[in-house]
Amino acid sequence: MIVMKFGGTSVEDAIAVDRIAGIVRSRLAEHPLVVVSAMSKVTDGLLAMAAAAGKGDGDKAVDLCHQVRERHYATAGELLHTGLFTEVHGKLQTEFESLEHLLRGISAVGELTPRTADYVVSFGERLSSIIVTAAFAGREIPATLLDARKVIITDRQHGRAVPQVEEINHALQLHAQPLIAAGRVPVMGGFIGSTRDGITTTIGRGGSDFSAALAGAGLHAERIEIWTDVDGMKTTDPRICPDAHRIKVISFDEAAELAYFGAKVLHPATVLPAVEQNIPVLVLNSRNPSNEGTRIVARTPKSKSLFKAIAAKQRITIIEIVAARMLMAHGFLAAVFEIFDRHRCAIDIVSTSEVSISVTVDSNEAIPAIAADLEKLAYVKFSGRQAIICLVGESIRERPGVAAQVFDAVKDINVRMISQGASEINMSFVVEETDVPAAIKRLHARFFSEVDPEVFD
Ligand code: ADP
Ligand code: ASP
Ligand code: MG
Repeated sequence: MIVMKFGGTSVEDAIAVDRIAGIVRSRLAEHPLVVVSAMSKVTDGLLAMAAAAGKGDGDKAVDLCHQVRERHYATAGELLHTGLFTEVHGKLQTEFESLEHLLRGISAVGELTPRTADYVVSFGERLSSIIVTAAFAGREIPATLLDARKVIITDRQHGRAVPQVEEINHALQLHAQPLIAAGRVPVMGGFIGSTRDGITTTIGRGGSDFSAALAGAGLHAERIEIWTDVDGMKTTDPRICPDAHRIKVISFDEAAELAYFGAKVLHPATVLPAVEQNIPVLVLNSRNPSNEGTRIVARTPKSKSLFKAIAAKQRITIIEIVAARMLMAHGFLAAVFEIFDRHRCAIDIVSTSEVSISVTVDSNEAIPAIAADLEKLAYVKFSGRQAIICLVGESIRERPGVAAQVFDAVKDINVRMISQGASEINMSFVVEETDVPAAIKRLHARFFSEVDPEVFD
């Protein structure tokens, strides 16, 4: 079997859904399980509704809800013949009535809990999967809707719930395997799951890729296809550098670094479940399905190019922690890291000097609380609106003088906190957010003006 995941833009309207039906039909012989995202921008819309309701603005929330509702009705209307449309319209209507009711309830209380936010946001994938299943059924695909909440079992950390792999694998055998064995095509919403006791959760933004990887690993898929709106992974974000090259083949490790450091095309956790089982992952373009995309494999062939790609992770905060006494006392680092740990805040880059330590974290709500704790031990200074630029490539291990070339390319940009990862396949540094486009363009021009045709397009 194979897993095919379609992102938001691949299900954004009737034309897109019709297109992916053709792609799925072309692979029926390989027994696909399909994972779909919410229609593009719907997750953001749902979050905006939830936020408005949480502030007590029920009218605004319901207004936004109606816009999203009309888009789903229109898409279903264009895709489905009358009989099927009536049936699907009824299902969608029930969902939207319950969403509206919920938003009114949140607004009346004037408080949005993480648990309720997850429930609101789960409508995106639930609605898109209803429409996609019906559209497939009307296009000679024996599709069956599979509620992700029966399969993707998670812990209860709402917004970023952690999938429980053993239970997921068991649920996949119970709910998905029999459908596939019977020649059906299960269609499951990505991104959402539920706790053991049935409370709806979500597994982090962009998480549909992760859902697909979990399903692929649990069902021992022959491959996982991530269908998006670009011809695979590129040498950098094509919105910043339109001349970015397609990467034909990349290793799991390189892809993981890139995804983690901001290459939005793939969710960071995606490759893990796949790598453990050596399942190839392909990134493909639903608007250009004949393109070969990017193949993510265990080991890449040696490339003449120094780097595979450049990514940028925005919304970073640097925290400088200066020990109150002259020298860092024994145990100081441990005390500092314990604070980050306690607030469940992940650190990306660390650099230390005799008396100070600087770390980068994703900008988040926990920062004021972390600051309050840190200030008990040290002087603390924050700089927001920073970004991490990350260059990835397995060849940098063997080449001397790499850093000199990198910093020469960005010599007129203010660079802070340089780090070469322990994995030795990434080199990263911090710049102001506003310098990201210039830094990426310069680095791309320096390292990708001529590329190895074996690896890049
Ligand atoms: P989907 O909805 O299919 O999950 P995403 O928007 O999450 O799609 O990811 C695809 C987008 O990622 C592309 O449209 C592109 O703009 C962006 N992107 C950022 N960095 C890269 C990169 N290195 N290679 C390809 N796409 C990238
Ligand atoms: N719909 C979710 C999001 O926008 C998950 C996904 O698309 O992968 O984050
Ligand atoms: Mg995505």
